[in-house]
Amino acid sequence: TYDYIVVGAGTAGNVIAARLAENGANDVLVLEAGVSNEGVLAAQVPFMGPTLTPNTPYDWNYTVTPQTHLNGRTFPFPRGRILGGSSSVNYLVHQYGSSADYDRLARITGDPGWAWRNLRRYIDRHEKFVPPADGHNTNGQYIPSLHSTRGILPKSLPGFSHGIDARVIATTQELSAEFPFNPDTGGGDVLGLGWVQSSIGDGTRSSSATTYLNSVINRRNVDVLVNAYVTKLVRTGTVGGKPSFRGVQFANGPQSPTTNVFARKEVILSAGAFGTPQILQLSGIGDRAELTTKSITTIVNNPSVGKNMSDHVLLPNNWRVQGTESLDNLLRDPVAFGAALDQWQTSKTGVLSNGVTNHLGFFRLPNNSPIFATTPDPASGPTASHWEMIVSNFWINPAVPQPATGSYLTLISALISPTSRGTLKLASNNPFQAPLIDPNFLATDFDRYAMRESVRAVKRFAGANAWSDYVIEPVGDLAAQTDEAIDAYVRSISTTVFHPVGTASMSPRNAAWGVVDPELRLKGAEGVRIVDASVWPFVPNAHTQGPVYLVAERAASIIRGY
Ligand code: FAD
Repeated sequence: TYDYIVVGAGTAGNVIAARLAENGANDVLVLEAGVSNEGVLAAQVPFMGPTLTPNTPYDWNYTVTPQTHLNGRTFPFPRGRILGGSSSVNYLVHQYGSSADYDRLARITGDPGWAWRNLRRYIDRHEKFVPPADGHNTNGQYIPSLHSTRGILPKSLPGFSHGIDARVIATTQELSAEFPFNPDTGGGDVLGLGWVQSSIGDGTRSSSATTYLNSVINRRNVDVLVNAYVTKLVRTGTVGGKPSFRGVQFANGPQSPTTNVFARKEVILSAGAFGTPQILQLSGIGDRAELTTKSITTIVNNPSVGKNMSDHVLLPNNWRVQGTESLDNLLRDPVAFGAALDQWQTSKTGVLSNGVTNHLGFFRLPNNSPIFATTPDPASGPTASHWEMIVSNFWINPAVPQPATGSYLTLISALISPTSRGTLKLASNNPFQAPLIDPNFLATDFDRYAMRESVRAVKRFAGANAWSDYVIEPVGDLAAQTDEAIDAYVRSISTTVFHPVGTASMSPRNAAWGVVDPELRLKGAEGVRIVDASVWPFVPNAHTQGPVYLVAERAASIIRGY
């Protein structure tokens, strides 16, 4: 028996484990289905992050159900299965989103504690801004007063400069009305394009495992089990008329015996936007009609479990470019890559000390866009965005392998304020069978409209004078001009930015929908809280690790009462 059991040593789970254990008053058990992150080189070298997924031992290796609005295509949907969870395998972009996201969260839940003016305080204990790997002068690349140097997780500006960086900045001047410069992409103001901030310190990935978990792992009041696959929550009785679930069942694998462990205080579910609703449903907490078809006895009938999934749609737009400044040859040439790895191992510098982008930006559709005649603006507020652009100095396209020759520029466009909602359902009552993941991408007119206009916008960006002696031509159907042709292009290669949320959504205490209350307690039950990406009711204006870290820091303060 422990005071607290944390299910999932991922991004949020490790924050909870560390904060509950740090004062020595609580004993904490952490159960993680994946392996240790120790010695996993690609989880340390920032630029190698993308090699950790899909189809590896560090990934859950999920595939989405055929996507109705993407020509019936399926594609991988990576999730980290390793200490640190997705923070150990992600692409390291680190930001919090728009202040409007938090203010909207406060409005939706009726809890002003989720508003930006309160949540931003947790940045202080979370992040530790450090110099970039190349030690360059970062003046004008971020606003130091918005950040902290006292927190636990090292983060930094890009540690390697690219030939295209100057062209990107020049475009923000040349086309300043449409693509203004954002002096800080990791503050609460997301609009405009600026320098990326990443969960990197000393040229090395910062995950929740290398930071939060490592800060407590040698304490006697913390036990961490890897290869511990949680199969369900165990009912331990009835408290105040509600079923309590202070037990957790886990196994090392499908053929192994199960073990039950119990919490004196609480079980914290932090298994992520897919793992958490899967475990809830396996425990009899979900939509009775669906659970019955899987021969699971319903204990808490809550149709919101596994619904309301929202995610950012990713569209990789590629151009063929001049010269050899792009990183395409590095990726094709094992000798060059080996030299870069030697440099990283010797000095933690060079191209591999950096992530996959140096610049990103968030943008709004024009206020007079015809779509707003039929769809209310779904952005979090007037200072929040509809779409994002990510600039990469090489070929990125999950749907199309890197060509054997040539140099490329990728301007990813991503849908940031989707109105489509997806689902996470069980395939069967076998806990080891992958769940059915349906993000239901681009199901609405708004989502298709925003993607189409994002394609036109990134083409205007690449058409600036700043690129005229560099960009040669768009690749494939990116050349499309008509609405119909652009829509067909979007359908043919869009995929996920890996930011699913909402499958165990927060809602006001007495709402008829939602899975947890504003203090993250599981509704209709006792003894369980949920702390991970699944509690965000809508996907924020950010790569989601930052918003997950802030939610987890506040959750820890709610649980501990500080
Ligand atoms: P996770 O961090 O995924 O943690 C869930 C944990 O629970 C995992 O360790 C998992 O193994 C464990 N678990 C699940 N089920 C069970 C079970 N049954 N039993 C035991 N353990 C279980 N965000 C950014 O901000 N920037 C980026 O650049 C970025 N890039 C990304 C790239 C990829 C490939 C991926 C996958 C994600 C990326 N994200 C990025 C998203 C971001 O990493 C996630 O939103 C965030 O880490 C989610 O945190 P979480 O705590 O909800 O879940």
